Parts: sequence; structure tokens; C-alpha cells
Amino acid sequence: MTEVVRLTAVSKVYGSGEQGVAALREVSAGFRKGTFTAVMGPSGSGKSTFLQCAAGLDRPTSGSVTLNGVELTSLSETKLTVLRRQRIGFVFQAFNLVPSLTVAQNVTLPLKYAGVRVDLAWMEHVLARVGLSERAGHRPSELSGGQQQRAAIARALVTRPEVVFGDEPTGALDTVSAREVLRLLRESVDDLGRTVVMITHDPVAAAHADTVLFLADGRIVDHLQLPTADAVARRMAHLGAWA
Ligand code: ADP
Repeated sequence: MTEVVRLTAVSKVYGSGEQGVAALREVSAGFRKGTFTAVMGPSGSGKSTFLQCAAGLDRPTSGSVTLNGVELTSLSETKLTVLRRQRIGFVFQAFNLVPSLTVAQNVTLPLKYAGVRVDLAWMEHVLARVGLSERAGHRPSELSGGQQQRAAIARALVTRPEVVFGDEPTGALDTVSAREVLRLLRESVDDLGRTVVMITHDPVAAAHADTVLFLADGRIVDHLQLPTADAVARRMAHLGAWA
């Protein structure tokens, strides 16, 4: 199976000399098409840095990051921005919707940025998938947190991205809303063939993934296939003991 995203020996050092902090140390990982991966690890283990490097939001100090064979580390800032807009979806803990725009306008914003014509049928399909057909004309402030995150997921999916990165997408949600959001991410993988990589602290959230990668001190120290919440929690407790 083809790998959509591949990191090879990615290192990231913040600062330099004695003050330098090694956030990632020669990390290698591949994400195949149509898979859902959770990234876990103690605070400061390098999860955010890993996601930022994998998504072309930050540049590694050394190593290679490819998106379907395109080397991101050698692209100019301009080309990287275009690539992110056209080929990558993002879902953050803070929903990052534009308050003055309606749900429909928020969802189609990435298409506008990417200079792609809005396919209304597709937009309506995506809104229906996330259960917001009736809310298309509402502003974010008129929606619950869970609905806002579902709008953010619709926005992330509307460009049919090759990979969707999530940074604690359920971190600000109640249990019921979190479960809906995780179900949508799972369906985007199973039904739409998307590839999802998500940072989470929550073993229950991680159990929705096919694979969990565990980071500690800037390295991938373990992984779990077909994880259960219990197995993830046990592994995390173990990592916590080392940290
Ligand atoms: P996590 O997401 O697992 O909490 P991070 O990737 O945020 O971990 O951080 C990994 C390490 O890199 C930590 O020691 C953190 O303090 C350091 N770090 C992260 N970002 C910066 C930065 N911009 N400048 C300096 N150090 C940073």
C-alpha cells in the first residue's frame, strides 16, 4: 500500500548550542492511504512538533518529509502554503471558524483560498455527512461546541485532502460531542478513503484509530495496532512513569 505521508529520520532542534532543545530525534514513520493514526505521549514528548513537521507547518532541522512523494522540506514557503491549502486538511482543538461567516461560508473557505470552484453538491454532501445541513446558514456562535467542530471537519474534508491532521480535535468537547467527532473522522477514513493523523491525550479517542504511535522524549518508542482504550491507557501509564 502506498504511503501518503512519510517522515524519514526527522529531527527538530529549537534554538542552538547549549540552549538547544531536541524536540524530535530521528523520527521515521509512514502513514498509508485510508488509515487512522493517533499520536500520543507525555507533555513535551514532541507530538506537536511531529504534527507540524509532518504537515509542512514547520521545517525539520534535518530529515525528509514527503506527501505522496513530494519532498516538503525543499519547497519554498509559497509552494508549501499552496500545497497545504490544496492537499492537507486541519482540525484543531480550537475550532478556528471565522465568526462573521456562516457555516457554509466557513466550509468553502479553503476552496476559495485554493482558487477552486465551489461544487455545491459536494459541499452539501459534506455538510450532510457531518449532520449540519440544517445549519448551513448559521454563524458559529449559534452552534454548540460539537457542531462547531463538525463544521471544522467539513471544512477540512471539502478539498478532498490527501491527509487530515488533527491536533486534539476532541480536547474541548464533552464526551457525547467528542464521540460524534471521532465517529466522523473514522467514517472519513472508512467511507471516503481519507488518511487521518491525530494527536490526542485521550485513550478512548485513540481507540478509534487503527494504530497508536507513542512518543517519548522526541522518539517513537512504541506503537499499538487495533488499540483498545484499556491497552492505550496502560501504555500511557508506563510512559508517564518514565517521563
Ligand atoms: P508535546 O506536543 O508532546 O507537548 P512539543 O512538540 O510541543 O511536545 O514540544 C517538544 C519539546 O520541544 C518540549 O521540550 C518543548 O518545550 C520544546 N519546544 C516546542 N516548541 C518550542 C519552541 N518554539 N521553542 C523552543 N522549544 C520548543
